[in-house]
Amino acid sequence: MSMSDEVTEGFWAATRERRLVIQSCRACGRRQHYPRWLCTACGGAELEFLPVSGLGVVDSFTVVHRAPAPGLAPPYVVARVRLAEGPVMLTNLVGDADWACDLPVRVDWRPLPDGRHLPVFRPMKD
Ligand SMILES: [Zn+2]
Repeated sequence: MSMSDEVTEGFWAATRERRLVIQSCRACGRRQHYPRWLCTACGGAELEFLPVSGLGVVDSFTVVHRAPAPGLAPPYVVARVRLAEGPVMLTNLVGDADWACDLPVRVDWRPLPDGRHLPVFRPMKD
C-alpha cells in the first residue's frame, strides 16, 4: 500500500494539521482502519473520514533492536494500538515506558519532509 494511494489521501491530508481521522461508514457506522474502498461490515462504498480522540491502548508490541535503515536508531517499538473508537493501528511507540499490553497511550506526531505527519503513540502519563 502506497502512502499516496487515493483511498488513503484523506487520512494523510488530515495529518498535515496533526488530526487523526478514521474511516466511518455512512450506512452502518462501522469505523475501520486502514482506509479501504468498501466498508468491511456491510460493503457500503460511502465512507468518510471522521476525527478520533487519539486515545487508545497497546494491543501488542515488538521491541526492535537493530536498525532497519540508516538514520533510524534502535531500539524502537513497533506496535498495534487499539483506538478508543475500536479500530487497530499499526504504529510506533515513543517515549519512556515499561511497555505492556493494555497500557494507555495517546497519539503524538512525527513530522515528515513533505508537511504530513506520521502518527505515533506515547504513554498517556507523558
Ligand atoms: Zn458499513
